[in-house]
Amino acid sequence: MKVDLVIAGGGLGGVAAALASLRNGLQVVMTEETDWIGGQLSQQGVPPDEHPWVESHGAPASYRAFRNGVRDYYRKYYPLTDAAKNKIHLNPGDGSVSRLCHEPRVAVLVLTEMLAPYLVSGQLQLLLEHKVISASVNHDRVRSFEVKNLKTGQKENIKADFFVDATELGDLLPLTKTESLAQICISTQRG
Ligand SMILES: Cc1cc2nc3c(=O)[nH]c(=O)nc-3n(C[C@H](O)[C@H](O)[C@H](O)COP(=O)(O)OP(=O)(O)OC[C@H]3O[C@@H](n4cnc5c(N)ncnc54)[C@H](O)[C@@H]3O)c2cc1C
Repeated sequence: MKVDLVIAGGGLGGVAAALASLRNGLQVVMTEETDWIGGQLSQQGVPPDEHPWVESHGAPASYRAFRNGVRDYYRKYYPLTDAAKNKIHLNPGDGSVSRLCHEPRVAVLVLTEMLAPYLVSGQLQLLLEHKVISASVNHDRVRSFEVKNLKTGQKENIKADFFVDATELGDLLPLTKTESLAQICISTQRG
């Protein structure tokens, strides 16, 4: 397989990198070792603890679209009261830890919908339950990743012009033994 960009890790960082690249016309493969995208937001059931101005400013457009998508999902499919439905800043779980307490699976559905146009057209290939197990490197430049299907054990080689490490721990640095690799980490916190 040969694409423009391979992103290892389908957390918020990986999804944000994918959306930006896809919008700019790149052919992308994103690998995720679990069967859910969203990373810590969806896998750990942690609602986003965001900075106090998030409803008015300080959120990139794609994160704003994600937040609106979560609210719209509850408005559309859940038996809300009219008062709740009409709240602009609806907090679905009404918890105090976050202005947007929501179920992990809703986050997965909304993120998947954001990627859907590119998945359907084939511009994005999402390889769930796939892990990068080795890399081919030439003069400090990564040429390809070998990924393993964790369900079938099948291995595949993916060549690309660019590689992004969106794993939470930077798994690919020791794997590629390169001095640096584009690494994406997302935080919604105030720090
Ligand atoms: C308990 C807890 C609470 C937190 N609360 C908040 C909060 O309220 N607000 C906030 O802003 N931040 C919070 N954080 C930090 C926040 O979760 C992270 O900064 C953010 O989720 C990082 O996103 P990410 O996409 O970089 O990584 P992650 O969300 O960790 O995504 C990494 C993805 O890569 C996948 N992956 C890992 N290794 C591989 C591999 N080798 N191959 C393929 N895929 C791989 C993982 O399965 C995962 O899906 C919290 C963290 C924790 C642990």
